[in-house]
Amino acid sequence: MAKAGSNDVLGPVAALRRIAFLLERGREDTFKVQAFRKAAAAILPLPPGEVERLVDEGRLTDLPGVGASSGKVIAAAVRGEVPERLATLEKAHAGPLAPGGRALRAALRGDLHSHSDWSDGGSPIEEMAFTAVELGHDYLVLTDHSPRLTIAHGLSAERLARQLDVVDAVNEHLGGAFTLLKGIEVDILDDGGLDQTDEMLGRLQVRVASVHSKLKMEPDQMTKRMVAATRNPFMNVLGHCTGRLVTGNRGVRPGSRFDAEKVFAACVENGVAVEINSRPERRDPPTKLLELARDMGCLFSIDSDSHAPGQLDMLDYGCHRAEEAGIEPDRIVNTWERDRLLAWAAARL
Ligand SMILES: [Zn+2]
Ligand SMILES: [Zn+2]
Repeated sequence: MAKAGSNDVLGPVAALRRIAFLLERGREDTFKVQAFRKAAAAILPLPPGEVERLVDEGRLTDLPGVGASSGKVIAAAVRGEVPERLATLEKAHAGPLAPGGRALRAALRGDLHSHSDWSDGGSPIEEMAFTAVELGHDYLVLTDHSPRLTIAHGLSAERLARQLDVVDAVNEHLGGAFTLLKGIEVDILDDGGLDQTDEMLGRLQVRVASVHSKLKMEPDQMTKRMVAATRNPFMNVLGHCTGRLVTGNRGVRPGSRFDAEKVFAACVENGVAVEINSRPERRDPPTKLLELARDMGCLFSIDSDSHAPGQLDMLDYGCHRAEEAGIEPDRIVNTWERDRLLAWAAARL
């Protein structure tokens, strides 16, 4: 999908989805994006010829979910034209997101950190999966939040169990070339425990663990907390290790303080990957810590931490940073093929 250019003439559903993707990729207002995704969902189930008929009769906007601007896009696509809105967005947002990291990006086979509308993401599971397929991923790990993060609708054990059935169903529809993997972004509790039952953690394939609360904890305590989590055999990836925010509409905040040598040593010892979080508002770990983890021999995972389909493409930012830090591709676990990744993730169980 990222490769589609303005010369391709897309059908109405594809044009609407492409517009939403580009808006999300360009970090534009999510409210605008939802309108295009809703319009695509509104016309998708219509019988053949019905969209054309509504365009001819000028009645497109009678459909719930289709407004003036999405209607224009649909009408142009039905006439076989490139919608003006799409052409503008292709120019503005389709180019590379970062000045470097292209070779590394091409070497990535998937993404270990993504959210759906089951927690605080904006799109259904299948939409995230379809977009990952279009980006050429071999796998995407679905990592919705854990129960304690109530603000993000964290999943109870029961909801997570239901989600796993949905993941199975999505995989059945998608066939064998791509796999949606079962995962979680589990909260690291104050004492270093993980915020989900062992039974459920054991049913998952890849587990990202992150600190989301008490970021200002005293450094000794924070170090103990992170090291204890890293020793937990279920933990595979240390998510956004400092929790800092450097830009964006959530404001900025400093990272938590901890003894990074001790934490990264625990990561090396336990085969836990340090996440390079690609979100521009995070840029986590900060460069000094990224270089320390590199020098200490850590594994890495370049993750999008996407909360919308278009954000899946933000891996560009993380690849640029990893390349600048000179991290070899084979130390980045999502350059690995699926079976090697899964064997690594299950190695301590
Ligand atoms: Zn997080
Ligand atoms: Zn996340």
